[in-house]
Amino acid sequence: MTATPVIVAIDGPAGTGKSSTSKAVASRLGLGFLDTGAQYRAMTWWMLAHGVDVNDPAKVAAAAGEPDIVSGTDPLGPTITVDGEDVSGPIRSQEVSAAVSAVSAVPEVRAVITALQRSIAAAAPTGIVAEGRDIGTTVLPDADVKIFLTASPEVRAARRSAELKGKDAAGLAATQAALLKRDAADSARKASPLAKAADAIEVDTSELTLEQVIQCVVTLIEERRRR
Ligand code: C5P
Repeated sequence: MTATPVIVAIDGPAGTGKSSTSKAVASRLGLGFLDTGAQYRAMTWWMLAHGVDVNDPAKVAAAAGEPDIVSGTDPLGPTITVDGEDVSGPIRSQEVSAAVSAVSAVPEVRAVITALQRSIAAAAPTGIVAEGRDIGTTVLPDADVKIFLTASPEVRAARRSAELKGKDAAGLAATQAALLKRDAADSARKASPLAKAADAIEVDTSELTLEQVIQCVVTLIEERRRR
């Protein structure tokens, strides 16, 4: 007897530990892992590399179907390529981080990437942990488990700064300001904003270690699977 695939949606603002948590949960439970932010970053990287004005929504919309974005979903080694090129490094640049909210607000971009995300989730043999901003609300509204991670702005900035490992040239205060600016833009956009689904479980990770958050999410999934 084959178990039914399990679909887990993990949403929340930047720096709440979505990626680290999702990867670890997926690997412990034998599920795929999808970093949807990496797909929006890959789209943004392509726009910048091809000289598309990211502040012109019409130009971004016209080009949205062009890049071929491929995500590898092994939680132990997730990959992301655009037109066959490994972009896992360049998509984390500050240039891409500063432009991604404008690109991801364009409905044509969201249509292309949402379709891609749904096809990846449907093809995952054992199921998937997908993390982002609108997974529980829009991309996979029928997910078996929906989690919304939060944390205080100070904690989120400190985590992002630690992730940048010394490449945080502008300093902690600037990192926090950039992160809050991105969250405000992501929450305010018309097309599928950052939002907690009505049936999502909110977990404030400010005072929790990564291991505690992972355990909490694994327990929630196991409880749901038993029902
Ligand atoms: O998760 P990460 O911080 O890498 O996401 C980068 C950006 O991608 C977000 O700030 C947001 O603009 C966009 N995004 C989105 N919807 C998602 C995931 C990410 O709009 N599901």
